[in-house]
Amino acid sequence: MQKTEKRELHIRDTERIRWSVPGDTNGPVLVIFAGIHGNETAGVHAVDHVAGTLLNENESLNGHLYAISGNMKALELGVRYVDTDLNRIWENGFENHRPGSHHTNIHSVEYKESLEIKHAVEWILDKHKEDASRFIFVDLHTTSSESCAFILINDTLANRKLARKFPVPQILGFEENIRGTLLSYINNLGHLSIGFEAGAHTNEASIYRSCAFLWLTMHWLNIHKLSDDEVRRYEHELDIHPDLPDSYYEVKYHKIVEDPAKFEMIQGFKNFDKIEKGTPLAKENGEWIEAPVWGRIFMPLYQKKGRDGFLIIREVSAFWLSLSAYLRKSFIHKLLKYLPGVHIKSEQAFRIDLRVARFLVKDIFHLFGYRVIQEDEHTLICYKR
Ligand SMILES: [Zn+2]
Repeated sequence: MQKTEKRELHIRDTERIRWSVPGDTNGPVLVIFAGIHGNETAGVHAVDHVAGTLLNENESLNGHLYAISGNMKALELGVRYVDTDLNRIWENGFENHRPGSHHTNIHSVEYKESLEIKHAVEWILDKHKEDASRFIFVDLHTTSSESCAFILINDTLANRKLARKFPVPQILGFEENIRGTLLSYINNLGHLSIGFEAGAHTNEASIYRSCAFLWLTMHWLNIHKLSDDEVRRYEHELDIHPDLPDSYYEVKYHKIVEDPAKFEMIQGFKNFDKIEKGTPLAKENGEWIEAPVWGRIFMPLYQKKGRDGFLIIREVSAFWLSLSAYLRKSFIHKLLKYLPGVHIKSEQAFRIDLRVARFLVKDIFHLFGYRVIQEDEHTLICYKR
């Protein structure tokens, strides 16, 4: 018992902050979200396991660790969400995260959950703002289809740099298709944020992979160093298929479902399966849905909740990645506003008139690290990430 007494354990009244493991105040602060979707419990088991192990160790952390509980009501009921998806209501950060914004009903269970999570995040940021070297947020999830582990990031160079340490596929710019995620909100606050998807909801390996991801994250952030052997062991536990390159992928197509009750994915697709253009993928309202482009199937919907039917992703070339890393640090950036059809919308955003700026607009702004949202047929809004 001596050992546990040495390291103080705080569980705050609401249990929103599930764990907190203190260490050197000048180190990084790592915040882990678990159970943002209530039917995804692997991450919850993983943070309990990792925090429990740390509390029994003697060695002090170089930094702080927090675990925040996600959708507590949905976790209790064992469902993805109660009224609305807790990972789709963080549109445009805090300013717009208020009653009446987007489709968020202030009487929904998830609105209340989101406010508590927001308060917990603010409390942690405030408590450590003077001393912490930096803040890093990770969000643990699982998928409804069988899948290997993978990482989702908003495409910033800082996110890329940390994500690159993990030998798993990395999906860039996901937030352009899936709006209002918790991690986009964190990213808009200016902090590094990574989503980790461990595998299928019901696969026990998802728990081990989540644990391995957390140990490796703490190692790469220098919060808790591992031996070389341990690093290899945890990397091995992430267990990536040998025929799937652990490189970057981008979203090429996103199938949005109006009514999940009328959408049925053809059985048997696994995440990252290769598909040709024209492959039948699902039935909606009795009609076949075929793949409009080639690539790999991503997050096929095998549950009756959620509006993201499936996505199609493709590997990003190494050349594009280094070019974009170069350009984002360069002065050429300043010239974007002189391109035809490009107007300044705000300090952080451009409005693009597609009737004037016809070619490669999305690609160019992606290169420079912008998030590109189609506002209407003729207009794109490009936000600086
Ligand atoms: Zn999830």
